[in-house]
Amino acid sequence: MRTDVAVIGGGAIGAAVAYFIRLLDPGTDVIVVERDPSYGLASTPRASGGVRRLFSLAENIELSKYSIGFFEDFAETMAVDGVPADIGLKKNGYLFIVPPPQRDVLKSNFDTQQTLGCNVEWLEPDEIKGRFPSMNVDDLGAAVLSPDDGWLDPHSVLLGFRNKARSIGAEFMADEVTALVRHGASVTAALLGSGERIEATQFVNAAGAWAKDICAMVEVQVPIEPLRRFEHFFLSQEPIEPLPYIKDMQRLAFRPEGRGYTGGVPTLDEPRGYNFDIDYAYFANVVWPALAHRFPQFERTRCTSTLPGLYDQNDFDGNVIIGPGVGGLGNFHLLSGFSGHGLMHAPGCGRAMAELLLIGGYQTIDLTRFGYQRILDGTPLRETGII
Ligand SMILES: Cc1cc2nc3c(=O)[nH]c(=O)nc-3n(C[C@H](O)[C@H](O)[C@H](O)COP(=O)(O)OP(=O)(O)OC[C@H]3O[C@@H](n4cnc5c(N)ncnc54)[C@H](O)[C@@H]3O)c2cc1C
Repeated sequence: MRTDVAVIGGGAIGAAVAYFIRLLDPGTDVIVVERDPSYGLASTPRASGGVRRLFSLAENIELSKYSIGFFEDFAETMAVDGVPADIGLKKNGYLFIVPPPQRDVLKSNFDTQQTLGCNVEWLEPDEIKGRFPSMNVDDLGAAVLSPDDGWLDPHSVLLGFRNKARSIGAEFMADEVTALVRHGASVTAALLGSGERIEATQFVNAAGAWAKDICAMVEVQVPIEPLRRFEHFFLSQEPIEPLPYIKDMQRLAFRPEGRGYTGGVPTLDEPRGYNFDIDYAYFANVVWPALAHRFPQFERTRCTSTLPGLYDQNDFDGNVIIGPGVGGLGNFHLLSGFSGHGLMHAPGCGRAMAELLLIGGYQTIDLTRFGYQRILDGTPLRETGII
């Protein structure tokens, strides 16, 4: 079969790409190949759902501004047959807390965020305590609160993009890409597990934590690795005031969820690999001490579930890689390496990829610096003081 654009992977990213292509040009045919329509191991449904403007790079801040604005209108924009696509967006704020040595970096990032038009508040330790009386601020130097940020339901975002993309003509195929056919500087076809073959003008690698396997099909090793991360659900025996999404420099990241809390302490020390084993001691050994240190109410916390998931970790610089260039191929586009930010940037990056494919350049947000060229040049583009 033949199509204009073949998207490999139908998670939040692949589905967003398909939606924006059809939105911007209903004449362009799109097929999304997803090997597991139940998304059993996909990263999207396992994400924590945090959305924030708190970054240091202008590109990431602009991606968040566009994407969070998009999420605000998601229910109506993504409605199909009049049924709204509710994603449970909670704009309860996002709070970065840092120890005294990190004050200057936090301040510099705060200035960048303000310059780029974000609504952010600088909080001294006594002001943090005033807002969140339960929090231990003894070891804190400052905080930045982004009151318009918060969290949402990741699976609903994925379903919203997929259903809407389908309703405007994108095709989703349940199949696995097993090989790519290369001819000169182009990929000409994807071979599927079913024996089917898709020929296309453009290919998008949106396979998330599995993106490196797709790149290996054109014999290129990219620095994107599967990185296991646990999302824990836990309860507090004593009441705590309403909290925003909280993130600290030791990587503790959590938020309220229903009658409890969800979050964890991801670590980059984790061996890379497709590992979905649960380490049941991790909460007690790593997460609980961090929680209890910050909020005495968590001294008697109880973890009721632990879900493992994979980051599509870009070990080169922790940021997404977008666009062509892998293996010198002009029509094979990578869109992975989000390193924990993929869900919140799905709308912005989905749109950016569609612009690249349809117009040949970026119109909404210039993501040139996030291209594959930086990998070839050996010039990482890292966030500063932000994980
Ligand atoms: C515990 C955890 C917490 C997180 N928290 C946040 C957060 O708070 N905020 C945030 O923005 N991000 C968060 N993330 C990151 C976010 O989940 C990812 O960046 C994002 O979901 C990536 O989307 P994706 O569509 O690229 O990947 P996926 O959702 O994994 O989709 C990729 C798809 O590709 C398919 N696929 C792979 N190989 C093939 C093949 N050969 N053929 C066909 N299909 C294939 C897979 O089946 C999969 O469905 C978190 C991740 C984890 C694990």
